[in-house]
Amino acid sequence: MNNFNGIKKILRDNNSFLITSHINLDGDGIGSELALYFVLKKLNKKPIILNQDRLPRIYKFLPDSDKIHYLDDNCIDPKSIDVCIVLDCSNIRRIGKTYEIFKDLKTVINIDHHMSNENYGSLNYVDSSASSVGEIIFELIKSINIDLLDKNISTCLFTAIITDTGSFRYSNVNFNTFAIASHLTSDGIKPYLIADNIYNKNTYTGLKLLGEALLTLEIDNSNYVSWVTITRKILSDTNAKDEEIEGIVDIVTSLDKVEISILFRETKDNKIKVSFRSKGNFNVNKFAGKFKGGGHLNAAGCLCSGKLEEIKEKILSELFSDIKCLKCKN
Ligand code: 5GP
Ligand code: MN
Repeated sequence: MNNFNGIKKILRDNNSFLITSHINLDGDGIGSELALYFVLKKLNKKPIILNQDRLPRIYKFLPDSDKIHYLDDNCIDPKSIDVCIVLDCSNIRRIGKTYEIFKDLKTVINIDHHMSNENYGSLNYVDSSASSVGEIIFELIKSINIDLLDKNISTCLFTAIITDTGSFRYSNVNFNTFAIASHLTSDGIKPYLIADNIYNKNTYTGLKLLGEALLTLEIDNSNYVSWVTITRKILSDTNAKDEEIEGIVDIVTSLDKVEISILFRETKDNKIKVSFRSKGNFNVNKFAGKFKGGGHLNAAGCLCSGKLEEIKEKILSELFSDIKCLKCKN
């Protein structure tokens, strides 16, 4: 049974904390980092947020987002850190190069909600029933002292929750998610302003990218699987940034009847990043695991090396054979 006693003791007994999250930062990673940062400051501790990847533009509205440090700042002396807290990362590879900074630390707290979490911390708090790490940080604050909650923290946690639940649309939403969201809005934060910052700041190049990506849309004969492909050429032709790919796979998933959708994309460093989404019971976390990836029941991903067309072929044929097996069993 998870409880926060171990984490609270570590917070009490130490002074300087490095907070980090995964590569390709998302709203849950950033929102949870900043919320925890504000809490630690209020507890008179010394927190510092360090990420490998730059903050996506749409999250710049978050309070103190300009205080986040990045690996290329070279600003962290690992000897000055007592504890590292890793948020929303299922395994060490997802932490990216930041791992090098704290890998020799004795105390690493791993707080996560991925069912594929590999328990790499010296203390692991993993709750796969939580919609987001934001939800877990809220519960942690409640167990320390709910009066710590303020508008800044609520803004960050609300952001974490709406981004990881697709604005309360995914299967990870339950009574508790709404109860927490309701609590977060009770001291005057405005959900529509947060949503406006996250969802209404598309750029011209981002929408062009979406258009080009949708032109690559393919669907199997049974309308069960759909997929799109974003090459480096599409990115350079549209002048779009990699971070603007975020959200495109979710649009593909909105196709009626389709149960599984996939986005294949070429990364800057010549790898192939694959994103999986499903609507029903098809476990994309398990499927992504076949390619050393992971995630959640309905949202997962993996990173592959090799040629785009070969990887597409391999993943799609594996997927169709899994689907065939499932249909045989039913
Ligand atoms: P996305 O497709 O939006 O990048 O990620 C969807 C979910 O899958 C996220 O919860 C993310 O943590 C997880 N995920 C994405 N890529 C990988 C990966 O390469 N490895 C693992 N273990 N999880 C991933
Ligand atoms: Mn998350």
